[in-house]
Amino acid sequence: MNNKQTYDAVVVGSGPNGLSAAITLQLAGLSVLLLEAKDTIGGGLRSAQLTQPGFVHDVCSAIHPLAVGSPFFQKLPLAEHGLEFINPPILAAHPFDDGTAAALRQSLPDTASSLGTDALTYYSLLEPLVRSWPTLAPDVLGPLRFPKHPIDLARFGLDALLPATQLLKRFTTKEARGLLGGMTAHSIQPLTNLTTSAIGLVLTAAGHLYSWPIPKGGSQAIANALASYFTTLGGVIETGRLVQSMQDIPKARAVLFDVTPKQLIRIAGDRLSATYQKRLETYRYGMGVFKVDWALSEPIPFTAPECREAGTVHIGGTFEEITAAEQATSDGQHPDKPFILLAQQSLFDTTRAPEGKHTAWAYCHVPNGSTVDRTDAIEQQIERFAPGFRDCILDRHTMNSVQMEAYNPNYIGGDINGGISDIGQLYSRPIVSFSPYKTSAPDIFICSSSTPPGGGVHGMCGYHAARVALHSVFGLHVPVTI
Ligand SMILES: Cc1cc2nc3c(=O)[nH]c(=O)nc-3n(C[C@H](O)[C@H](O)[C@H](O)COP(=O)(O)OP(=O)(O)OC[C@H]3O[C@@H](n4cnc5c(N)ncnc54)[C@H](O)[C@@H]3O)c2cc1C
Repeated sequence: MNNKQTYDAVVVGSGPNGLSAAITLQLAGLSVLLLEAKDTIGGGLRSAQLTQPGFVHDVCSAIHPLAVGSPFFQKLPLAEHGLEFINPPILAAHPFDDGTAAALRQSLPDTASSLGTDALTYYSLLEPLVRSWPTLAPDVLGPLRFPKHPIDLARFGLDALLPATQLLKRFTTKEARGLLGGMTAHSIQPLTNLTTSAIGLVLTAAGHLYSWPIPKGGSQAIANALASYFTTLGGVIETGRLVQSMQDIPKARAVLFDVTPKQLIRIAGDRLSATYQKRLETYRYGMGVFKVDWALSEPIPFTAPECREAGTVHIGGTFEEITAAEQATSDGQHPDKPFILLAQQSLFDTTRAPEGKHTAWAYCHVPNGSTVDRTDAIEQQIERFAPGFRDCILDRHTMNSVQMEAYNPNYIGGDINGGISDIGQLYSRPIVSFSPYKTSAPDIFICSSSTPPGGGVHGMCGYHAARVALHSVFGLHVPVTI
């Protein structure tokens, strides 16, 4: 530890946003120090042997449409730093009790045509978004500003603003409603809320454009590639450096925090104005998660063949069941049949498990701060669509929402998105401002998923925060224009 050495900028926290902020600042020619509390870098991008020797589990994120679709990551030479993505043949499958399943394939026409009488409705909803996404992405994945493509954005916004329950009234088949309903449940809020369609539409369109890939070797590979690029540029990383106050940070002209508002108040409260702190205190966190990782003797024996070829499986039955489960969880309950997001990385990446063996990763939403053990409910839901699943379990590792927060202090009460992304906080996070990355202190910035565009592995919060810091502290313009 060397608090005497000075840097132009210090970034606290090495999640995808901290790493992206650090890279952006270093690319502009600054000297940058990245401090990480844990012994390994990565935040939500770590992989570890959670169960038995030879099994590599993704501790947090697993599936990466937003990383491959990130306008920032796309500009970085991450493949040269060891990052390789693997595309499963089916991106996501959604099984039903009759043994069938809906499937999201990369091909938009193939996906649409598998949805029976909803084929045309699906195609008409997704095709304009898929076509315009490459130009729309910088507007959607950033702070509020006058859009570069206002007509495309307005068209997207009209659908995206709707509650999922409203949007899905356009569909009649259980397949289309289940498939899109599972996508919208990634919003981690009641599906009757405004904007719950937004995340579902973005994830589905990103799938058609970029796939839903898994990184070879685990999600840690994304963090390692970002860190390798950063240090190649001359950046410095120090792990095992928990920052508890501004005194723990070496002198710098700018400090960027990859933390959420609650932590920022604790660490830098004495440097923030009372008004700004009050505004941060009203910031709201959403539901938590309960997560299970399994070491398996064989692949999960799903009845529907599509599920056996899918990287991700959404388990929850019909859209009505998923809506009820998410509402009950938001109301503080632990429903018997929770909605489950499941990934089966080892089916496509042989580095994840010993030969012939497999891993599986899953979580369900729980009330914020819940310590209730959901293992049985999750395994029963999987067994419902994959009879014999329990017989394949060699070992398991679980984390409730309090353990999630202990693992990563950004997951307040188990909230994995750094705060709920409802209509009040989707873009006005952590406060209502055209420059939400700035705080009341001119040298302190926030760059985590508690800023626009919010949760997920895309690095865009870090990139935008660094751009703002470069401009307002150093009078510099960002070297990579997005
Ligand atoms: C179970 C789970 C599943 C997920 N699945 C996916 C997925 O499949 N795809 C996807 O795109 N996203 C997924 N996510 C979400 C994604 O991981 C996060 O949105 C993303 O990691 C947020 O990035 P961040 O940089 O803002 O913060 P984080 O990744 O949380 O990083 C914050 C870092 O800051 C460090 N830190 C915090 N406080 C301090 C301090 N005081 N001093 C020093 N260091 C500190 C932490 O240790 C951590 O390393 C998942 C998350 C979880 C938990």
